[in-house]
Amino acid sequence: MTEYVQPFEAGDKSQLDLLGGKGANLAEMTRMGLPVPPGFTITTEACRAFLERGDVPPELPVQVRSAMLRLENRLGKRLGDRHDPLLVSVRSGAKFSMPGMMETVLNVGLNDDSVLGLAEASDNERFAYDSYRRLLQMFGRTVLDIDGARFSDALDERKTARGVTQDVDLDADDMRALVDTYKQIIAAESGAAFPQQPSEQLTACIEAVFASWNTPRARVYRRRERIPDSLGTAVNVCTMVFGNLGADSGTGVAFTRDPASGAAGAYGDYLPDAQGEDVVAGIRNTLSLEEMHELDPASYDDLQRVIRLLEAHYRDLCDIEFTVERGTLWMLQTRVGKRTAPAAFRIATQLVDENVITMDEALSRVSGDQLAQLMFSQFDPAAERTLLTTAMGASPGAAVGTIVLDPQRAVEKAKDGPVVLVRKETNPDDLEGMIAAAGILTSRGGKTSHAAVVARGMGRTCVVGAEGVEVDEANARIVCGDVTLAEGDTISIDGTTGEVFAGSVPVVPSPVMRYLTDGVAAAEPEAGSDAALVPAVDRLLRHADRVRRLRVRANADTADDASRARTLGAQGIGLCRTEHMFLGERRPLIERVILADKPEELKAALDTLLPLQRSDFGRLLESMDGDPVTIRLIDPPLHEFLPDRTALSVKVAVARERGDVDPEDVRLLEAIERLHESNPMLGLRGVRLGIVVPGLFGMQVRAVAEAAAARIKAGGTPRAEIMIPLVGSVMELHLIRQQVGHVVAEVAATEGVELDIPIGTMIELPRAALTSFRIADEADFFSFGTNDLTQTTWGFSRDDVEAAFFAAYLEQGVFTVSPFESIDGDGVGRLVRIAAEEGRSTKPDLKLGVCGEHGGDPLSVHFFHEVGLDYVSCSPFRVPVARLEAGRAAV
Ligand code: PEP
Ligand code: MG
Repeated sequence: MTEYVQPFEAGDKSQLDLLGGKGANLAEMTRMGLPVPPGFTITTEACRAFLERGDVPPELPVQVRSAMLRLENRLGKRLGDRHDPLLVSVRSGAKFSMPGMMETVLNVGLNDDSVLGLAEASDNERFAYDSYRRLLQMFGRTVLDIDGARFSDALDERKTARGVTQDVDLDADDMRALVDTYKQIIAAESGAAFPQQPSEQLTACIEAVFASWNTPRARVYRRRERIPDSLGTAVNVCTMVFGNLGADSGTGVAFTRDPASGAAGAYGDYLPDAQGEDVVAGIRNTLSLEEMHELDPASYDDLQRVIRLLEAHYRDLCDIEFTVERGTLWMLQTRVGKRTAPAAFRIATQLVDENVITMDEALSRVSGDQLAQLMFSQFDPAAERTLLTTAMGASPGAAVGTIVLDPQRAVEKAKDGPVVLVRKETNPDDLEGMIAAAGILTSRGGKTSHAAVVARGMGRTCVVGAEGVEVDEANARIVCGDVTLAEGDTISIDGTTGEVFAGSVPVVPSPVMRYLTDGVAAAEPEAGSDAALVPAVDRLLRHADRVRRLRVRANADTADDASRARTLGAQGIGLCRTEHMFLGERRPLIERVILADKPEELKAALDTLLPLQRSDFGRLLESMDGDPVTIRLIDPPLHEFLPDRTALSVKVAVARERGDVDPEDVRLLEAIERLHESNPMLGLRGVRLGIVVPGLFGMQVRAVAEAAAARIKAGGTPRAEIMIPLVGSVMELHLIRQQVGHVVAEVAATEGVELDIPIGTMIELPRAALTSFRIADEADFFSFGTNDLTQTTWGFSRDDVEAAFFAAYLEQGVFTVSPFESIDGDGVGRLVRIAAEEGRSTKPDLKLGVCGEHGGDPLSVHFFHEVGLDYVSCSPFRVPVARLEAGRAAV
């Protein structure tokens, strides 16, 4: 029989898969002897069984009942007893944190009798009825699916009737009246009375938490965070402790370091006389820990002690949820906390300096995605601006966009340009609007509010707690002092400083970008906050460079791109797409090649292109002098260089009507018709062009060889490599290799220099991967073209499928991320692995790289490291990201 229930004292933090994050860490804290209210965890396995069967597994009710009995015996109390009742919370907790996405019900066990027992035991009637009405509210929303506004409206009505603004100003009679109202709402909306039986409440809550795994917002969140749908959530049943027992009680969240800036020292929000969700929901503005210190020094000291213990134990920034019940501190949750990108880099190096972790560990604590965020631009310090207010920067970045006050409208409006979502506070239902927005601004809440936590997780710029901004939803406007901005007006928000500006403020490169392009000194910021960031990034990137095995090259077609890439740390060019050299004003020249009927015409057309290509390659080799430059011969189908077929057909038809048709147009149209293909990506392109269009590849190779010869004569060290695209058979490569070798030898002889130009192939067709042991005979290197390899392995047209049906595929879990973005390890990756192994079995020193988009994708970089490639090549901007990730893959 499967055991689905585990008491806190039986587990530890290694059991994340089974107990979820919350359960595993509650177990760990229990083990550490920290004050955790007793309880037990129902495993993720039970949730998976529930989701599969559509019902709880048959063993579960008995197991929960016996766990409850043990808890009752231990505490000498009974769930929902009419005297001093035991009450429990029922809280979700998946392996990966999904803040606010799933459900929690507190005060389970209260009913019309036990509320009297609670009042008596606490000697506080107001508290008892407040707790009961909270249970009704959460149960109604979560278990019975009743619109939460029904309850909050009733609460607001009561406050208005009593002429007060805060919940704490309502007295016991108010709470008793609210309990009645809430029970009526439940009966009216659900058609049944609120269940008075505590065990029935508990069972319903457990099922509701399981079911909340699949709410639309939870699914959206998982898709975004790439969390598999199959994991399920655990459920934690925990003895209630109360933060709403008066002024000597309270509840809070804290971080062992500031999660926004990374500054050392605990950071947190505390709300006296409040329960659980009040803090995270951002309903009331909170006190800082310093203010808590003044209010309740003893609990504050206890909290500081626990914070120190936790950080030493987890060796990382932790976030915690705690409650103070009449002066006693209780820990309700901890985990290694989410943090902003700057905080991640700062904290990682701080912990090294504090001798807590090694540099290798520090490297594993930051990510390429975070580095990419730090490369984002910032507001120009020199630019004019109109400051509206300064609130709390909760997630860094500079966002400029039009104001939208509603999350659904944000999704719509974001299609026309960047929007800033402005809300009083956000809740989990706002998620899609938050994803669509360039930035998020809230008027309430602290750095631990829902908006802040979610925005940080997504890397979205976010400012919270802007009390000076009145969000007037009814009139679709915001008011800040004497400034009123309507929905649709532009606003700029700075997620680092918390500043909010009216209008659009110009944006400039970030200090990290300045450092990456100009070195550490250039990036020294004028004032304060970024001082420790650039050195932290510098240290970690250098360490990554020291430990990584993968080399990092860039995909670049121009000397400018190549220089930029080199500045960003590229160790060569992994892909120069030569077709990009035939665009713009050169298009007519390649048109002449395509239209040529006679060999002399073709030769003349190619001869015109030769010097242009020679100088292109010369500049490229010069800008990457000493490092390899892989030049790929022309790849796309030739009709891509010709005018649009329909437009030209119309033009010619109209001209014919008028009787003044241009013979050149007719010739062009004939060529277009001749070259037209139904499946161009599978047509006459790549190596096939080299075989059927005489002289085309030869011209390009000659240009490369002559450029290299000229560079040698000029004292340079050119390291050109020639790469043949879309090879599927060794024979294709054999034929081209002969041509290439011949041209290179001829140029070397004519120029009187020694030319060593390796000749390799892209592996971008499944057949190439599967026959790599043969192809390796003719290749000096392989470069995996994972864009085409993904296209041809899946049979997905690169240019069409993403818009056509990827949303449905992602939604329905066919994949969690587009295979064009992150390598599909099982399918496409398997071909890479086969080709790498079998290619090297033929030629042990075969150089292996990748130049598809995946070369700059963090997850894929780890995969390429693992299969033993020598280098990845990616767009210049991704080079630092790939360097960091290649380092992380190696530690
Ligand atoms: C590839 O197919 O992965 C590749 C790099 O080539 P292109 O994107 O130019 O087809
Ligand atoms: Mg390709």
